[in-house]
Amino acid sequence: HADAVQGELKLDNVSYQYPETANPALNHISLHVHAGQKVALLGRTGCGKSTLLSLLTRAWDPSNGEIHLDGKPLRQWSEPALRQAISVVTQRVDMFNGTLRDNLILACPQASDEALTQVLTQVGLQTLLAEPGLNAWMGDGGRQLSGGERRRIGIARALLHDAPIVLLDEPTEGLDVQTEAQILSLLQQHCANKTVVFITHRLVGLEQMDTICLMDAGEIVEQGDHAAL
Ligand code: ATP
Ligand code: MG
Repeated sequence: HADAVQGELKLDNVSYQYPETANPALNHISLHVHAGQKVALLGRTGCGKSTLLSLLTRAWDPSNGEIHLDGKPLRQWSEPALRQAISVVTQRVDMFNGTLRDNLILACPQASDEALTQVLTQVGLQTLLAEPGLNAWMGDGGRQLSGGERRRIGIARALLHDAPIVLLDEPTEGLDVQTEAQILSLLQQHCANKTVVFITHRLVGLEQMDTICLMDAGEIVEQGDHAAL
C-alpha cells in the first residue's frame, strides 16, 4: 500500500566515534543504497563494517552527518516502524533466557509452531526439533548452542521477519562450505526484492551483489560491481 517502506538508504557524510576512543570508527561515509539494491561491505577486521550496520539500525546516532531511510531522517522514524522496516543478523547472535520458541518468535509474533519448525529445518537446525523441541529452554540453565547454531538462529529470525531491508553481518562465518552455500541460497531467495547490506570476509556470494564496497580505516575506499573489483 501507499505508505509501505521502499527500503532506500542514504548515508550523507556520516562519521562516528565511540566514546573514549582516539580515532573515529567511521569517517565521512557517503553511500546511497537504492530500494532493492544489494551491497556487500568488505574490509579487514576493525575497519568499521559492524559500526556502519549499528548506525543503520539506529543502535547509535552518527556523530556527524545524517542517514535517511526512504528520504526521511532515521532519527525521525518511530521505533516500531524502524523495527518493521529492518531485519538484521548481527555478528554476535544473542539468545535470551526463554524457550527456543520465545527466541524465534520475537521476529514474528504471529508465527505458528509449524512455521517455526519449517524455518528451523530450512536453516539445517532440525536436530533442535527433537523433544522438547520448541519448548526447550535456552540460555542460562538451558540448552547451549554452538556458534554456528546461534548464527543460524539469527538467520531463522531474519527469514521469519519479512522486512524490506535486510542487514547481514557475516551471516555464514564459522559455517562449513556446504552449510554456507545452503544458507546463502536461502537468503538469496528471501531477499530477492529486498534491500540488502551484506558484510562478509568471505568471497562467496558476492556475484549476487549489485555493488561491492571496500572499507579501510572507517572509509569506503573502493566501490564497484563484482566484475570491476
Ligand atoms: P570485524 O571484521 O572484526 O567484525 P569491523 O569492520 O566490523 O571488524 P567494527 O566492529 O565496526 O569493525 O569496529 C571499528 C572500530 O571501532 C575498531 O577500531 C573497534 O576497535 C572500534 N570499536 C568497535 N566497537 C567499539 C565499542 N563498543 N567501543 C569502542 N570502540 C569500538
Ligand atoms: Mg564486525
